[in-house]
Amino acid sequence: MSDFKGALTINPFEVALEQLDEAAKLINLDNGLHQILAHPKRVLTVSLPVKLDNNEIRVFTGFRSQHNDARGPYKGGIRYHPQVTIDEVKALSMWMTWKCAIADIPFGGGKGGIVCDPKQMSDLELERMTRRYAYAISDIIGPYTDIPAPDVYTGGKEMAWIMDTYSALKGNYVQPELITGKPLAIGGSLGRTEATGRGLSFTVREAAKMLKLDIRTSTVAVQGFGNAGQFAAQLLEEQGAKVVAVSDSKGGLQSRNGIDIGALRKYKEKKGTIVGFSEGKSISNEEVLETDCTILVPAALENQITKKNAEKISAKIVAEAANGPTTPDADEILYKNKTLLIPDVLANGGGVTVSYFEWLQNLRREYWSESQVNDMLDKNITRAFSDVYSTHEKHQVNMRKASTLLAINRVVDAIKIRGLWP
Ligand code: NAD
Repeated sequence: MSDFKGALTINPFEVALEQLDEAAKLINLDNGLHQILAHPKRVLTVSLPVKLDNNEIRVFTGFRSQHNDARGPYKGGIRYHPQVTIDEVKALSMWMTWKCAIADIPFGGGKGGIVCDPKQMSDLELERMTRRYAYAISDIIGPYTDIPAPDVYTGGKEMAWIMDTYSALKGNYVQPELITGKPLAIGGSLGRTEATGRGLSFTVREAAKMLKLDIRTSTVAVQGFGNAGQFAAQLLEEQGAKVVAVSDSKGGLQSRNGIDIGALRKYKEKKGTIVGFSEGKSISNEEVLETDCTILVPAALENQITKKNAEKISAKIVAEAANGPTTPDADEILYKNKTLLIPDVLANGGGVTVSYFEWLQNLRREYWSESQVNDMLDKNITRAFSDVYSTHEKHQVNMRKASTLLAINRVVDAIKIRGLWP
């Protein structure tokens, strides 16, 4: 985790507030509305006593932040990580509000997390902790109020435990519409696993058109080889790009001849890391970001591109699979250097868009085909890219400001129309 020292010194909620302030200034946002958006509506902290396998009890801390529900139920993932903080969860919930507004789906923004190191826990310990968390937040989540999903170090398994616990507690009938990112057997959607990477690959395709770049002669570097990073790499490779650098928490790989992503995914599945893969030379995480490439995909955690390394980034397109990987001062440097940044709220919006499709399928008790899901995702995210890109051109601001601006306008419209009560 030593590469994430930077993540400890920059407070993500301050970054989120700074982004909000800048966009608010640009559109002369009323101060009262600005204040509403600067404060999550509710932030719950819960203590989770869990019996460990050695019979000791450990108390974990969990959070659920509900930022804004003017446009629909709160929506957002649950993260398990030793460095989860309340401010990180608050920031992520605000970004979810923007993301859902940009994707133009009827959700607001929420996010949850537990401070824990899931890699050091057994499956039974994880299950007990997850069910305890579901129980502790069960009164504020629900199919029409707050619909969680996976995030860093959580996946289908945790979503299933949460759905099962909630269903047992609230009426004792199965309620798949409570949560998305579920395994297929209990109402997950085809295409959900790849959705974030797929959506990102569509936004890169659109960005490349704007810059008149040919994806087939482009090179790609990806930091983070988890759910988002793996599929982003694979789907960009499928569009014809060459992936020349990849990293995960244990280290990085670089090969100018291109890394075979299918083979690397199989290797990672077996070994739990990309380190030791037969192709490429090993490099550090910093070197992955600074690799000479056309497209850079940060797909790990926050604050990876900062004023310290932004000048060294050679990519023409930075597509943020991770949430909050670039600091505001680094945004300015990239903009000045004419790098087209596709901000997180747009680039990784495919995940929540297909989560929305999963929720609709669950409410209707339907199953859609994978091609139907992928086609709808393509249409939705292509339209979102075009909305953000035209705002960026119209206001002559970087893509992050453009997306925040667009999102704020949509959320503020909903707040104004609904009014304040009581
Ligand atoms: P994940 O747990 O599947 O993967 C995280 C990856 O990051 C792992 O490969 C891990 O090894 C790597 N990593 C951790 N520390 C690192 C380091 N120091 N250097 C390089 N890599 C490191 O998580 P994920 O779901 O892929 O999420 C990654 C990012 O994408 C997060 O910011 C998340 O919020 C965002 N995101 C994910 C989704 C989704 O659907 N999965 C949707 C939207 C946004």
